[in-house]
Amino acid sequence: MHHKDIVIIGGGPIGIACALECKKRNWDYVVVEKGALTNSLYNYPKNMTFFSTSEKLEIDEIPFISNNPKPNRDEALEYYRRVATSNQLHINLYETVKQISKSNDEFNVSTNKDNYQSKNVIICTGFYDIPKLLNVPGETLPKVTHYYKEAHPYAMQNVVVVGASNSAVDAALEIWRKGGNVTMVVRGETIGERVKYWVRPDILNRIEEGSIKAFFNSEILKIDPYTVTIQTPKAPITIPNDYVVALTGYLPNFEFLEQSGISLSNSNVKKPTYNPETMESNIKGLYLAGVICGGKETHKWFIENSRVHAKLIVSHIETKSS
Ligand SMILES: Cc1cc2nc3c(=O)[nH]c(=O)nc-3n(C[C@H](O)[C@H](O)[C@H](O)COP(=O)(O)OP(=O)(O)OC[C@H]3O[C@@H](n4cnc5c(N)ncnc54)[C@H](O)[C@@H]3O)c2cc1C
Repeated sequence: MHHKDIVIIGGGPIGIACALECKKRNWDYVVVEKGALTNSLYNYPKNMTFFSTSEKLEIDEIPFISNNPKPNRDEALEYYRRVATSNQLHINLYETVKQISKSNDEFNVSTNKDNYQSKNVIICTGFYDIPKLLNVPGETLPKVTHYYKEAHPYAMQNVVVVGASNSAVDAALEIWRKGGNVTMVVRGETIGERVKYWVRPDILNRIEEGSIKAFFNSEILKIDPYTVTIQTPKAPITIPNDYVVALTGYLPNFEFLEQSGISLSNSNVKKPTYNPETMESNIKGLYLAGVICGGKETHKWFIENSRVHAKLIVSHIETKSS
């Protein structure tokens, strides 16, 4: 059992920002991260480019220098890695928090490796670990993935990309440019309105000219080893298929939040309860930071606008202890 001033759960950009604030105050803190450092970013597509410019991804005003205005994944990994190592932040990697319980004003944070006791806990566990499933027969076949990494394996293959958001559009374009035969299956009637403004015309034009096929107002009905059946507005159709890349979004771990005592809004959004001025949840001493604050609205908070959560939280803890 370790006693800490603060336990930070999640070593993403926002967990690192929280650690930097604790370090400045000489507090005894630890970040517990279940995977590699910035594990979500590590799992993003290899060739992805952020929509934010590099200075918007900086934490604690530590300069982020990138070759182009909008950095890529490798540059972001390099940046956050350098921030963590050069500041000698206390981050325990490959350690998963299993449970948070509270008794006598103290939290007990138990992991697969250890136990920590602390009066303050910050949950910044993100949303990238639980994909929104299609819930159709065949979804567990090895040819189906909910995470897109790179285009090469899909060259000269029949690939269905499900979804119409930034991730789906980027994957569809990249796979098509590397020689894949791409069909998009889109539930709505058009490509997502939030798709990056410089990418949207590209995908619309590729669909218009027929390079990429797209079925709108359509859903996957079932996936078989060599085909996919799609419910289109007219009738179900079955097309030859080698791979399905289902990029329909991800969800925060609501079960973990609820087990920790955090109440969620009754609406479909399942927004966790917190005070936006302090980021303290309905449980005293238990804070929320980063993208998890949006519940199912995972587009609401991102690095750019949630890095401020770190300062809000530590200022509140400081006020309590002064
Ligand atoms: C393709 C893509 C492009 C994006 N581009 C941008 C952009 O340009 N600009 C921008 O601002 N945002 C962008 N975002 C969003 C941004 O990456 C996220 O908002 C950001 O990662 C949020 O940081 P976070 O620290 O809150 O969560 P995360 O980065 O998701 O970090 C959470 C961490 O918690 C860990 N964790 C989870 N559960 C546990 C547990 N039980 N125990 C221990 N550790 C745990 C995870 O492994 C993870 O490392 C993009 C997202 C995607 C998917």
